[in-house]
Amino acid sequence: MPEKGQRTAVVTGGSRGIGRAICLALAMPDTHIYFNYFNPGDPEGEAEAAAETEKMVAQSKATASSQSVNVASEEEVNGFFDTIISETGRIDILVNNAGITRDSLLVRMKTKAWDDVIDVNLKGTFLCSRAAAKIMMKQREGRIINIASVVGVIGNPGQSNYVASKAAIIGLTKATAKELAPRGVTVNAVAPGFIETDMTAVLPQNVKDAFLAQVPLGRAGKPADVAASVAFLASESASYLTGQVIHVSGGMYI
Ligand code: NAP
Repeated sequence: MPEKGQRTAVVTGGSRGIGRAICLALAMPDTHIYFNYFNPGDPEGEAEAAAETEKMVAQSKATASSQSVNVASEEEVNGFFDTIISETGRIDILVNNAGITRDSLLVRMKTKAWDDVIDVNLKGTFLCSRAAAKIMMKQREGRIINIASVVGVIGNPGQSNYVASKAAIIGLTKATAKELAPRGVTVNAVAPGFIETDMTAVLPQNVKDAFLAQVPLGRAGKPADVAASVAFLASESASYLTGQVIHVSGGMYI
């Protein structure tokens, strides 16, 4: 439970990978971080990973609490934000990070693989942004940071569902940035390139090599590289920045 007057940050998909690094980058002593996760196939594993993130945040003298919330479910998202508001009365930062891949070539892609990716990545970002924006508009301040992807700009074969979701997140970022700017709320995106997490660990070596061959800096990124840009966008230094996409991709998109 947060203490009164603490800065409140919400991070979706904070149990692992880039989301965990974002929780750590936002973990300053005056901050309470709410994060969620959702893996019904491995309830013990997800709870363990979330507890580890909470422990790591506590080492930075911030506080964190987490729960299993499917960002694709309107009911679960609204319940999550209702709890946050009843406990804190405010939301300073929202990071829409939760995301999945269900890769397949277009002609072989099952409709379920399309729907699952659009529901989690795009609809999830919409549902959380809508819930947080209502509060941020009343506060007349707030930061929304969406995690897109470099492939949402340059495309990638075998990922039409994922690429479409990430391109749409960039459009959503720009539209909501214009809509919320008069109320003091900024909306920006961070577009990672090839980052070492569970999401990329499962890729076959030839696919990894093909990605890395496109990176001018010649190496994969770390979750902390992405988190540093998120922390900047959430900071006072970024108060005059909105509707922008920061590419953290070792130069994959120049
Ligand atoms: P990851 O290691 O697979 O972690 C995904 C996180 O999202 C986990 O915390 C997971 O929870 C959570 N999650 C998945 N489905 C969810 C749902 N329906 N509701 C709530 N939470 C859910 O992925 P990552 O590599 O850190 O990726 C994080 C973000 O960066 C994603 O949006 C991804 O598209 C984007 N990105 C990644 C890369 C890359 O190279 N890794 C590149 C560009 C963009 P559980 O732990 O419970 O499964």
